Amino acid sequence: MARIAFIGLGNMGRPMCDNLVKAGNGVVGYDIAPSMRDAYAAAGGRVAATLAEALAEADTVISMIPTGRHVRAAYEGEGGVFALARSGTLMIDCSTIDVESARAVSKAASDAGFVMVDAPVSGAVPAAQAGALTFMVGGTAEGYERACPVLSGMGKNLFHVGASGSGTAMKICNNMMAGMSMVAISEVFTLAEKLGLDNQAVYDVVSRSSGNCWALQVYCPVPGPVPTSPANRDYQPGFTAAMMLKDMRLSQQAAGASGAATPLAGASAAFYQMLVESGHAAKDFSAVFELISGRLSHSPAEG
Ligand code: NAD
Repeated sequence: MARIAFIGLGNMGRPMCDNLVKAGNGVVGYDIAPSMRDAYAAAGGRVAATLAEALAEADTVISMIPTGRHVRAAYEGEGGVFALARSGTLMIDCSTIDVESARAVSKAASDAGFVMVDAPVSGAVPAAQAGALTFMVGGTAEGYERACPVLSGMGKNLFHVGASGSGTAMKICNNMMAGMSMVAISEVFTLAEKLGLDNQAVYDVVSRSSGNCWALQVYCPVPGPVPTSPANRDYQPGFTAAMMLKDMRLSQQAAGASGAATPLAGASAAFYQMLVESGHAAKDFSAVFELISGRLSHSPAEG
C-alpha cells in the first residue's frame, strides 16, 4: 500500500483522504490553511504541520487544490514539492486547472526526475464520499500504471487519455459540455412553459427522444421530474455556479490558446457569470434555469 502525502484538505480532498485510508493506504494530510488541518485532525486524520513533514515518508503525492496558480505554488520553487520530495516519489495532481499550467508542472516534474500525472475528476463531493469518482489521467504509461492502484481507492472509472495535460484537457471539454447543455435544457423548459407544456411531460418525452442529455436526465434543472436533482432542494449544490464559471472560463482560455471556435460555450459562460454576479455563486449551477426563466431574485446589491 502507498504512503501518501495529500495536499489540499477541502471539500473534495477530505473525502478522498478518507477513502484512501479505507483502502489501506497510509495518508498524511497537509493544507496551507491551519483551520483545514485542524478540522482534519479533529476528525481523526493524520496531519502534517508543514509540507516538508508531509513529504518526509511519502512515496506518493496527491494534490486537490483550487487553480493552476495554487498548483504551481505548491509544486515549484524552493519550498515546493519538487524541492522537498524523496527521489522516486509519484506525483498526482487531481485539481481542475488550465492546460498550460498542467503541462508546465508536469514538465518541471520530469526535469526534476519525477513521474507526474494530471488526474482531474468528474463527480462532485457525493461521488468523492462514495469513492465513485471518474479519473481522466494524462501522462506516460508508466505514470498511469503507477497511479492506478492509488486512484482505484477513490474512483470507479479510470481512463488514460494521453500525454501530460490530456487529463486536464479532457476534464475541461467534459465540463464545457455539461455547462452548455444545462443552459440549453434551461432554455427548453423556459420555452416549453410559455407554450403551455407541463414540465413532467417535457421530461418524459425529451429524455426518451433526440434532445436527451445528462443535464436533463440526471440533473434536471426544474423541480419535480428527477427527485435527486438540486432543483428539488432550492439549488443547494452539488456543483456550484462559481465552480462551473471557473471551468467554463478554463474552456474559453483553452479555446483562445488553441484557436478553436466555441461561441456557444462563450455564450453559456456569460450566463454563469450573470448568475454568479447576481449573488448566486454558492447555488448549484443548475440554478441557471432560474436566471434564464426570469425567476431569479435581484442581487443583494440591487435590493
Ligand atoms: P476547496 O476550496 O474546498 O479546497 C481546496 C483546499 O486547498 C483549501 O482548503 C485550500 O486551503 C487548499 N490549498 C490551496 N493552496 C494550497 C497549497 N499550496 N498547499 C496546500 N493546500 C492548499 O476546493 P474543492 O472543492 O475541494 O476543489 C479542489 C479542486 O477540485 C478544484 O480544482 C476544483 O475545481 C476541483 N473539483 C471540485 C469539485 C467539487 O464539486 N467541489 C468537483 C470536481 C473537481
